[in-house]
Amino acid sequence: RRKQEARLLELLDRTCRYYERQLWSAAEAGGARAELQRRGLDPELLREFRVGYAPSAFERVLTASRHAGYRPEELLAAGLVQRSRDRRDRVYDRFRRRITFPLADRRGRILGFGARALGADQKPKYVNSADGPVYHKGQHLFAAHLARKHAARVGEVILCEGYTDVIALHQAGRRNAVGLMGTALTPDQVGELRRMASVLVLALDADAAGRKAMLKAADLAAGSGLELQVAMLPDGMDPADMLVKRGAAALDQAFGRTISIGRFRVGQALEEADLQTAEGKDRAIADLRPIFATIDPGVLRMELVQDVARRLRLDPTVLGPLLDGPGGPPA
Ligand code: ATP
Ligand code: MN
Ligand code: MN
Ligand code: MN
Repeated sequence: RRKQEARLLELLDRTCRYYERQLWSAAEAGGARAELQRRGLDPELLREFRVGYAPSAFERVLTASRHAGYRPEELLAAGLVQRSRDRRDRVYDRFRRRITFPLADRRGRILGFGARALGADQKPKYVNSADGPVYHKGQHLFAAHLARKHAARVGEVILCEGYTDVIALHQAGRRNAVGLMGTALTPDQVGELRRMASVLVLALDADAAGRKAMLKAADLAAGSGLELQVAMLPDGMDPADMLVKRGAAALDQAFGRTISIGRFRVGQALEEADLQTAEGKDRAIADLRPIFATIDPGVLRMELVQDVARRLRLDPTVLGPLLDGPGGPPA
């Protein structure tokens, strides 16, 4: 078993080297190089992340690996090939005509890949490795092996959605960033984040899906011991967009003014509330009460009560006790 796992890791690493060579030297990778350049990503950093290119042919990795002595079952187990839909005895390369982002364990050993389409016509946008003996969806964080020591040094770890977001953040000097790779945060990943730092800065996309995912992530991380903060990005953007549109300095600065998870939750609840009617305000207060139950007495709490009072057009001294609920403010 050990020996089999070592063979799969070796296979994944040599495939990664192959994709890397393709990106930097193959003629057909010109579009991939242009796309990475358009995103403003520094080639040196792309080399460190071992970004690569999977060619469009159906049997490149398959043929090269078989020549090197690997069996088709091993390629399937490594998630590098998939079965043909109509001829189940045939397999072909899983990643084709895509930019490849290797996913490593905390020691930097490659376990799988995420691969991005080049054009908008190529679907789906991302293809990830299939689960197997070495890659388990939801157990890993992208770039954890690169971010670990930086996260430990600053006491903070940044969590974003995608591969390009992580690389953009590292380029902006935020080398403590890791990526979710599109899944909802799992308890395993919360444990991993907690081992990296005591403060978790959520930096998911500033769109409806990202904000919803941040609230869910915050619920999951409650009680983990992590102190949660949220990075506020311009509406509709993710960190990679921000690098292109505003530059590295602006991206870095957005992480110099994060807000507490309590402030974020209150803001989100108010966004969704109907503040025109008394009934709507009552519902908003009912929604806000469990949020205020998690915010300790202090200046932040007072400020948030005042913010809500202004929005609901109520006197803060009247609103305060309503937000406290029957048990009064948290002790
Ligand atoms: P890009 O900037 O390359 O257009 P993104 O990283 O902003 O993409 P999102 O749509 O915000 O992509 O999704 C975040 C992450 O979710 C991606 O980086 C990828 O890991 C994952 N993901 C997105 N779409 C898919 C998909 N169709 N299948 C699997 N994973 C996906
Ligand atoms: Mn997104
Ligand atoms: Mn995104
Ligand atoms: Mn993006």
